[in-house]
Amino acid sequence: MSIKIHTGQILHFLSAVTHEYFPSGALVTEDGKVVTCGDKESLLARYPQADITDHGERLIMPGMIDSHVHYPQLDVIASYGEQLLDWLNNYTFPAENAFKDPETGRSTAQFFLNELLKNGTTTAMVYGTVHPQSVDAFFEQSSALNTRMLCGKVMMDRNAPEYLCDTAESSQTDSQALIDRWHKKGRQLYVVTPRFAITSTPEQLTAAGQLLKDNPDVYLQTHLAENKAEIAFVEELFPERKGYLDVYAHYGLLGPRSTFGHCVHLDDQDLKIMSDTGSRIAFCPTSNLFLGSGLFRLHHQPSPVSVSIASDVGGGTSLSMLQTLNEAYKICQLNGTSLSPLEAFYRVTLGNAESLLLDDRIGNFTPGKEADFIVLNPAGTPLMERRSGKCTSLEELLFCLMIMGDDRAVAATYVMGNCLWNAMTDNEAKP
Ligand SMILES: [Zn+2]
Repeated sequence: MSIKIHTGQILHFLSAVTHEYFPSGALVTEDGKVVTCGDKESLLARYPQADITDHGERLIMPGMIDSHVHYPQLDVIASYGEQLLDWLNNYTFPAENAFKDPETGRSTAQFFLNELLKNGTTTAMVYGTVHPQSVDAFFEQSSALNTRMLCGKVMMDRNAPEYLCDTAESSQTDSQALIDRWHKKGRQLYVVTPRFAITSTPEQLTAAGQLLKDNPDVYLQTHLAENKAEIAFVEELFPERKGYLDVYAHYGLLGPRSTFGHCVHLDDQDLKIMSDTGSRIAFCPTSNLFLGSGLFRLHHQPSPVSVSIASDVGGGTSLSMLQTLNEAYKICQLNGTSLSPLEAFYRVTLGNAESLLLDDRIGNFTPGKEADFIVLNPAGTPLMERRSGKCTSLEELLFCLMIMGDDRAVAATYVMGNCLWNAMTDNEAKP
């Protein structure tokens, strides 16, 4: 039993509208779990035997969470000139083909997880490729780091190159085998992953629905209403359905464990159905801008829908959730609303945990939570140091971090109480 204390500025959220901030604070952990956090002086006095790490003036926060990202697309981030469907055909599908080789999966997963940790992201909901070995490779690497990750094998049996297609039957068998192998093994969680309605036959969407029925506590992720050409194609493929969302509804894919990437072009009636079924949206600002998909209206909530924030690399342009917040802020500005710094940091920590139904385990520093946390350095670059030196409130400091920050603002990343990334000493994460 070793009690550890980390001192610095401490910030965490208790709800969407409540946070705790200790300018001279301490976080106490034991055996990878949070014991408590609070004022430094009193906690140092209460735990005189603790092992102390002093982070100075730096900001200690829960690890950030990314609710939609494709690890096999690292090599097509920053690919020029296309919108969604051509981008998939010209860049993404050829790149995903390499993952038939398990070694590509292993080395890419290792690089990807290392990048997440450098960027202060400790949990992500991740797409593999159609190859089951891409998911084995990912979970093997994540298990070695003991990170809490969600991942699934892409199901895709039409409108994609032959070499990337499975079948309705094989996708169900392979997904079930991965669920049996990985779901709830340590910190790993499985996500049923039909890519989107365009690349799945009705038979395959039926199989996806069956997987959810057979395994009621796994997750589902897919894409929805990202781009106008995509929506038109779905309507052509499923003329008998009332619209794109109705395709997923028909096959039993809606619900609180289901996260739909993008949803840029849903109307109020769709949002009502999302709300009534408890379905989740992942807002992917850098991707929506990069692919020219449209401006998601984060604060337009005619019916309450849980919205998480995500990078969507490789359509997205940065794994940094700070950079993701930067672009989210600008999209809100264009929509005539403001993403406040407190709302922003709530969203990438506790808010995303709530959206993924993981807030009983991660997302803040209440007692018993898994001790995944980061140390942010507001002086990560000379200009940030200069600008943050002028900040006179927590809100100003957070805003500076979310607009100017990236991996250079992440000084250290801890997973279950262990330091896996330290910007001063590491080149890669330590399992
Ligand atoms: Zn995506």
